[in-house]
Amino acid sequence: MFLKDSHLRTNQDWVSLLLQWYDLNQRDFPWRRDPSVYRTWICEVMSQQTTMAVVVPRFLAFVDELPDLHSLARCPDEQLRRLWAGLGYYARARNLRKGAEYIVSGLGGKFPSDFESWLEVPGVGPYTASVISSISFGEPRACVDGNVIRVIARLTGCADVRIWTESGRREIQTLTDAVINRQRPGDFNQAMMELGATVCQKKSPDCPACPVKSVCHAFRCGQTDVCPPNKPRRQFEVVGLSALRITSSQSQPDAEEHSLLVERRKGFLSGTVGFPLLNETDADKLKRWLSSDECVLEIKDSEDCLSHTITHHQLKIRVIDIKVRTSAGSADDFSLKLLSLAGGQFASPRWVSKSLTESGISSSLDRKIWENISLF
Ligand code: SF4
Repeated sequence: MFLKDSHLRTNQDWVSLLLQWYDLNQRDFPWRRDPSVYRTWICEVMSQQTTMAVVVPRFLAFVDELPDLHSLARCPDEQLRRLWAGLGYYARARNLRKGAEYIVSGLGGKFPSDFESWLEVPGVGPYTASVISSISFGEPRACVDGNVIRVIARLTGCADVRIWTESGRREIQTLTDAVINRQRPGDFNQAMMELGATVCQKKSPDCPACPVKSVCHAFRCGQTDVCPPNKPRRQFEVVGLSALRITSSQSQPDAEEHSLLVERRKGFLSGTVGFPLLNETDADKLKRWLSSDECVLEIKDSEDCLSHTITHHQLKIRVIDIKVRTSAGSADDFSLKLLSLAGGQFASPRWVSKSLTESGISSSLDRKIWENISLF
């Protein structure tokens, strides 16, 4: 144990002050105005590692098109990708749909009503289960996210870097589970997160406006800048890739003027449809092979690399524009040839029209590659 938390346990008046403050100051979000289990679940998954300014418009569009469990469970891939555009970590959306399918087919469409049963839902971990079971079902389960860790570190005066470890998180979980308001567990959780997001911010916390400053060790001792200490930096592995923007001008006068070759990916961004990605060596080999192909009109490298971060990887991406001329019959032959030249690294390459691609591209990486696209 390294948290000096006894004053938070022995006198819990601060919890009442926190809830009074929350009643008066909570932000007006659509999921708070019109709450339901479904909406709580969706907004919780959407808001993981994403700002509220980004989440709110996407949440509204999402629940407008997919207003309930059943519509989510049968939502096609393309629609789900479009609705998730800009939120990143597309696997979260797929897991949401998997969870909805499980509840519809395995539980007869009835939401689980406690923490343990929510853990059975595919894609739902302890944090999400705590949020839903406390907010929607009144179960006293504390939610510990980055905001809550910061608030607790300051209230207890913790400047120990272990607060960012798994055992540190467990200590905070134990403390917050012990002090959570049993009548209003969902509001307690939301109040703690709200305090961290709006008052006890990482830089320049607004201590004079804080409802719990009377019990705050860091405020009393002038240690808000060291409590908590900075989180140890995550190491990124740098990966060099080439993205192929292959455009085809078909020779028939009535054909689509330009179409683009996309693939369903296997590695990075697995499952998403987007521009083919290759490692740099294979991309150079492919360029050499294609330079003598009769269908290929032009090959051009971008001058700068795009930079994109995915979990622990920093991707440095060179974009290669390849212009080809195909007839209706030879377009598929070309994509098959590409598939064999790339040593099977592409999964299901297919041609899509430029306009379809423009509306269907969903990952933020593909949007970066797509932006400023010039079709020769
Ligand atoms: S008094 Fe300041 S540091 Fe302490 S919890 Fe409130 S905002 Fe955070």
